[in-house]
Amino acid sequence: MGGTFDPVHHGHLVAASEVADSFQLDEVVFVPTGRPWQKSDYLVSDPEDRYLMTVIATAADERFTVSRVDLDRAGPTYTVDTLRDLHAAYDEQTDFFFITGADALGAILTWHQHDEVLKLAHLIGVTRPGHRLADPGLPDGSVTFVEVPALAISSTDCRVRVGRGSSIEYLVPHGVVEFIAKRGLYRNLS
Ligand code: ATP
Ligand code: MG
Repeated sequence: MGGTFDPVHHGHLVAASEVADSFQLDEVVFVPTGRPWQKSDYLVSDPEDRYLMTVIATAADERFTVSRVDLDRAGPTYTVDTLRDLHAAYDEQTDFFFITGADALGAILTWHQHDEVLKLAHLIGVTRPGHRLADPGLPDGSVTFVEVPALAISSTDCRVRVGRGSSIEYLVPHGVVEFIAKRGLYRNLS
């Protein structure tokens, strides 16, 4: 499951847990995207902070791990590179599934080398409040749709809340709330 994870929240964790359960996955690897880039008017947080928040959020669940492949690779993050690096790190028999929310799934045809992405992993599209889970027009059998319990949480909303001094308790794991406060993240959003 790739993401900016700025910050990771319970929407991500519920989606990962539900997919792990329905597909009987041995492991869900959270892969924070690489170096900061400008996402509209907002500068993405330091990769190491996003990495640490993801580690904190997933630490207690033995099915969850965090990969540094996208953080340690220079240049922009492309899913095709993520999947190639993960394939290299696991044995040849491993089956790969790429978990993505309804919003990101809609953009998949714009992804760099998306045909190659489909060869490297089976896509799992999960529901997300406010976004319709529609077939993006990919080849038959390349995507499976999964309904996950709806959590209308987004990282954008969490950042806005912190910026205006509102609580994000219960939207993100408690350890992540504390880490955000300790590092002073999202206080001065421009
Ligand atoms: P931002 O608001 O900064 O875009 P986000 O909440 O969308 O953050 P991302 O890190 O962009 O989080 O998302 C990573 C992946 O998790 C994407 O595939 C996204 O669709 C999915 N996702 C995010 N939030 C939810 C949610 N509440 N329910 C289901 N899937 C989600
Ligand atoms: Mg997003």
